[in-house]
Order: sequence, then C-alpha cells, then structure tokens
Amino acid sequence: MKVKISGILKQSGLKFTCEQTETLSAPDLVFQSPVDLKFTFTNIGHGVLAEGTVKGVLLLSCANCLQNFSYPFAFPMTEEYCALQESLSKAEKGVSLEELSIFTYDETETIDLTEAVRQAVILNLPSHPVCSPDCQGLCPVCGKRKSEGNCDCEEESSSSDLADERWSPLLGLNKSFDKKK
Ligand SMILES: [Zn+2]
Ligand SMILES: [Zn+2]
Repeated sequence: MKVKISGILKQSGLKFTCEQTETLSAPDLVFQSPVDLKFTFTNIGHGVLAEGTVKGVLLLSCANCLQNFSYPFAFPMTEEYCALQESLSKAEKGVSLEELSIFTYDETETIDLTEAVRQAVILNLPSHPVCSPDCQGLCPVCGKRKSEGNCDCEEESSSSDLADERWSPLLGLNKSFDKKK
C-alpha cells in the first residue's frame, strides 16, 4: 500500500484516512485473497503515525491433522514513519535503518506500508493453528486423519495398561521392602 502523505506534512495534527485492497506475499505464507487495509495517517510532528486494521484470509496447515484450512484474520496495527533524512542523521554510523527497525519516507513523500503489514501478519500468526476447535488430529500409529474414519489401530490406552503391568512386579517388591522395615 503506497500512500502520498504530502497533504498532511505541512502541519502537525493533520490526518487523513485511506482504504485499499492489496495483494500481499510473504515467504512461507499463502494468502487466499487480497488483504483489506484501512489506515489513518496522522502528522505527529517528528513523523507520521499510521494506525489501522489489516484483514485477509491465509491458507494455513493444521498443527493437529496437517490439513490445509482457510484462516480469516483481522487485527489492528500501528506503525510510525519518519522522514528519511532525519532518520539517517539520527542513525548511528554503521547501523542500518533496517537494524534500528525505523520505517521512513523519502522526498517523494510517499509511505509504503507493505513491509510493515507483512511483518504484522507474521507476528499475528497463531502459534498453534488448528483447522477446527474439535480437530481430532492423526492416529499416532498409522498417521490416518481421525476425521476420515476409524482405522484398525490399537488405541493408546491399551499400551499404558501394558506399562503398568510391566511395573507391577517392582511395585510388589517395594511393598515387601516396606514390610521388612
Ligand atoms: Zn486439523
Ligand atoms: Zn491408525
């Protein structure tokens, strides 16, 4: 999203709102639709504040059953943009603006929100995406999706019973030690 901000640069406090739909791309992310952006740009004296919302749909892989599913998202975000020349004089020598994570606009007086939005989408990704709240995941034995019907594998519970049985002689041993005391 590229926005001309010349109109608000003359005076602190000036603002305008802008709505745009943009095709976004990011490494390892699949967007199923263009992203809706609605932002208000405010001159805050030492720079321009971009405040708004990001809405879209991602294709994610379920952490339980590995199936792809549509993940609609919407979140608010805020980002500050400074004039490039001022930022350069502020930045210490040898440290790039990317390292300081300062977003800037240059003499064309245009703000490009794309990178900030991309970073915000990544930050707002769920840490454990699931296709549905009641996703049953995969069979731990054969790897079949449980939602696609039952497989013939033994249930997990039987193996834990087995473990108890293996330990039972030791438990008995413990008891006999207790008796001797
Ligand atoms: Zn799932
Ligand atoms: Zn199975």
